[in-house]
Amino acid sequence: MERTYIMVKPDGVERGIVGEIIKRFEQRGFQLTALELIHPSKELLEEHYCDLKTKGFFPSLIEYMSSGPVVGMVWTGKDAVKTGRKMLGETNPLNSAPGTIRGDFCIEVGRNICHGSDAVESAEREIALWFPRGVKTVARSHSIHSLFYEN
Ligand code: GDP
Ligand code: MG
Repeated sequence: MERTYIMVKPDGVERGIVGEIIKRFEQRGFQLTALELIHPSKELLEEHYCDLKTKGFFPSLIEYMSSGPVVGMVWTGKDAVKTGRKMLGETNPLNSAPGTIRGDFCIEVGRNICHGSDAVESAEREIALWFPRGVKTVARSHSIHSLFYEN
């Protein structure tokens, strides 16, 4: 089963959108595998966003992301990475369709309330970074997929 790292950013936590984001992943049928509220250090955020180091917005991104606590989560299920990205919407909320999380809750690219891994490899890298003590994935009998589907 595929895993993805979904994180509610400081503005999403501040605005009280954590429950809404959890609800959407739950009702879609993904399994909540890990969850932590954490006030991340700049070092952790610089590592998380290391691919964007050369971007002009990098310093403001690190400031924004370290401005308050975030809620980091691991969600597990079929095609979790790609489907998670679809549920989030586009990087720029103004390009995000209504019905997506960003499309329903924000308008600024620099305040886009949530993060989702963009590939299976980055998901595994991010899960190892944010949950260094490891994440135990146990199949649950009450997951929607195991109730209604064989595989
Ligand atoms: P994501 O995977 O959709 O989150 O987008 P990226 O990985 O490309 O960028 C990471 C985060 O940096 C985005 O979610 C935004 O919060 C921020 N970001 C990306 N592009 C811009 C930009 O052009 N301006 C600003 N201010 N922030 C940006
Ligand atoms: Mg990204």
